[in-house]
This record gives sequence, structure tokens and C-alpha cells, in this order.
Amino acid sequence: MLGCMDAAKLEQAHHRLIREFRRDALDTANWTGRKEFSDATMKAMAAVKRHLFVLPEHEVAAYVNRPQSIGHGQTISQPYIVALMTDFLDLNGDEKILEIGTGSGYQAAVLGEVLKTGHVYTIEIVEALAKAATKRLKELKYANVTVRHGDGYKGWPENAPFDAIIVTAAPKTIPEALTEQLIPGGRMIVPIGRAHDRQTLTLVRKGNDGQVTVDKVLPVAFVPMVRSKP
Ligand code: SAH
Repeated sequence: MLGCMDAAKLEQAHHRLIREFRRDALDTANWTGRKEFSDATMKAMAAVKRHLFVLPEHEVAAYVNRPQSIGHGQTISQPYIVALMTDFLDLNGDEKILEIGTGSGYQAAVLGEVLKTGHVYTIEIVEALAKAATKRLKELKYANVTVRHGDGYKGWPENAPFDAIIVTAAPKTIPEALTEQLIPGGRMIVPIGRAHDRQTLTLVRKGNDGQVTVDKVLPVAFVPMVRSKP
């Protein structure tokens, strides 16, 4: 349990981080074309307490703008990248969203905050992480997020099509099943590239006619999206 002092310090650090996003957004505007994030994105980033998603020993640094280990060789993404990817989905609040790479559940919780009536379906390949995220999101009362243990390369056909898809591990190329499970008019944000090499955050849009367009957003570094063992 945190003491009152610690809780107050974490809250201050959280406020500081939210203010930093405004500057970071300006710094990367040349790449992203976005000088600021929507109110909905900023509100969600302010609402979700990141210290509840990191390992207890990393709690004090939960509001430092960098990724952190969550065990099993995996990481919780840098908060600014979570904000950027959320913003790039241009959500109204009524979408059905698919996330690949639940990890700690932090990104899913941020999406859950943005939604008013929609739902987040999220898939994690490491069973222990899927279980821990399910428990955490339930305790935090995110009734609009459903976690499943499985292989994200296959998407989630039972719930497709999705209005928006967010991939938080890096595949080498855009997974075909995911493009297929995107609704016409929908969008997907995904880091593309080889493991431990330069990757590019990529925006994939499916037009109302089914035509797919691909735009590069920003150089990034994500853990690789792995293949399930046959
Ligand atoms: N969104 C997470 C961070 C994700 S780190 C958060 O907010 O904490 C990337 C995650 O993708 C890791 O947990 C990793 O196990 C998972 N992953 C890698 N390959 C996957 C695949 N094929 N399907 C589903 N999850 C995968």
C-alpha cells in the first residue's frame, strides 16, 4: 500500500507527464502532422493511473516518459507513444476496437476510457500476462475491455469486423488477417519492422471502397510480434 505522501508524489508526476505530452506533440509534429492530441486522448491519459500497471519496483518511475519491463521479456510502452497511437485512431467513442499485445493492459485501459459505448477486444500471446491483465482490468472495473490469450496474427474473427485496430508489438509486414478484419472506413495503427531494428509506426486505412492506403508516421522501437508455436 502506498502512503499518502507517495500517492501525492505519484499524482504530481502524473500531472507533469500530461503537460510533457503537449511539448512532445509539438516536437514530433513534423513527423506526425499533429501538433496536439484530442481532448479525449488527453483526458484518458490523465484518467488511467499507470503506476497500477507496472511492476511494484517500478512504481516510483511509472510517470517517467519511457517504456518499462513488465516481466516475461515484455514492456509497457512509453506513455507518449500510447497517447500518440490512441490519438491516431481518431475515435468517436462508439467503436469496436481490436488490440494486439495486451501486455499490462495499460493501452487497453486508455482505450476503454476514450470509449463511451464501444468495446475493446485485446489479445495477448503470453498466457501469464493475459491472466494478470484480465484480473487487473476487472479490478479497475473496465467492463468495456475483454482480454483473450491467443495469437494476434489471426485477429479475432468471431468479433470482426473492427472499426479500429491497434498493434503494440512489431510485425515485419502488415498482418493480412488484421487488414481483412478492418471495417471499410476503418483504421489500424501498427509498428512495422524487424526485431531490434528501426521500425516505423504505420497508419493503415481502409477506404469505403475497400482500398487500403499505408502511411508512415514515426520511427519507433517495439518488442517483436512473435509467431505462436505450431
Ligand atoms: N500494450 C501493452 C504493451 C505491449 S508490449 C501495454 O499497454 O502494456 C507487446 C506485447 O505483445 C507483449 O506483451 C507480447 O507478449 C505481445 N505479443 C507479441 N506477439 C504477439 C502475438 N502474436 N499476439 C498477441 N500478442 C503478442
